[in-house]
Amino acid sequence: MKVLWILAHPEPRSLNGALRDEGLHTLKELGHEVRESDLYAMRWNPVVDAADFGHDPARRLVVGAASERAHAQGRLSDDIAAEQDKLAWADTLVVQFPLWWFGMPAILKGWFDRVLVQGFAFGLTGERGQVRRYGDGGLAGKRALVITTAGARRSGLGPRGVHGDLEDVLFPLLHGTLWYTGVAVVPPLLIPSADRHTPAGHPAVLAELRERLRDLPTTPAIGYRHEHGGDYGTDLVLAPHLAPGRHGLDVHRTDRGGPPTSPSR
Ligand code: FAD
Repeated sequence: MKVLWILAHPEPRSLNGALRDEGLHTLKELGHEVRESDLYAMRWNPVVDAADFGHDPARRLVVGAASERAHAQGRLSDDIAAEQDKLAWADTLVVQFPLWWFGMPAILKGWFDRVLVQGFAFGLTGERGQVRRYGDGGLAGKRALVITTAGARRSGLGPRGVHGDLEDVLFPLLHGTLWYTGVAVVPPLLIPSADRHTPAGHPAVLAELRERLRDLPTTPAIGYRHEHGGDYGTDLVLAPHLAPGRHGLDVHRTDRGGPPTSPSR
């Protein structure tokens, strides 16, 4: 694998820092190639603005159009272009962060905002004139593993847990960002009860991390439905014979109880 490891944590001596160190070491030991984006260490700027696109500040900024133009003309700022080069190189992404307010730290959200620009990751049109998204897009063919530490207990982030199921909590990242741009995502790795983590519990967490990384090349991806696989109508609504009578995020998956997929796929 060619792995781009993206970490968002301000403290290298944190639990997240220790997990990143172990993860990179494991991947190299397994013979994989690794590059890293340690966002705090890079002092990554997470804020989109006109300077990203060499845009004349006197003119009204339309972010999608300006970013697409700058990308096409090679005028994106150097820090964005460097991250896009790393993305283009990688076949696998590891996205690691502490869960903060049910999502990723702002610095990481800003990495997605600034790097996955229109015309690069999304907003692309296929041969039949279709919009390439949800299972297709500029990052199609890549896979991703999300690793998150959380204060919550495992059960609290389980299917009936008070915080909501982890894969639902992470839906905006897993489905709305990664799958949207074509990246197949394997089930995330949760390190629960992180604030009560102890040296005694540490070896088991490292062992689980090593196992997930060792198995990553063959781990089946979450069965999100393709937008153009025949499961959705032109109104972008799931066909009534799929997951009949059910609502919510799970209906967009073929691997959570509903009938697999439309026969026309
Ligand atoms: P650290 O603070 O670095 O460490 C945690 C524990 O691990 C400490 O006891 C430390 O001694 C120990 N440790 C660290 N390194 C090692 C090592 N090498 N070996 C052994 N032990 C070690 N949680 C939720 O569940 N949901 C939320 O929505 C949520 N929102 C949050 C919002 C904010 C702004 C903040 C600050 C926290 C939030 N949390 C939430 C909790 C958060 O997810 C955890 O604090 C975080 O995941 C802990 O990871 P860390 O790397 O920062 O841990």
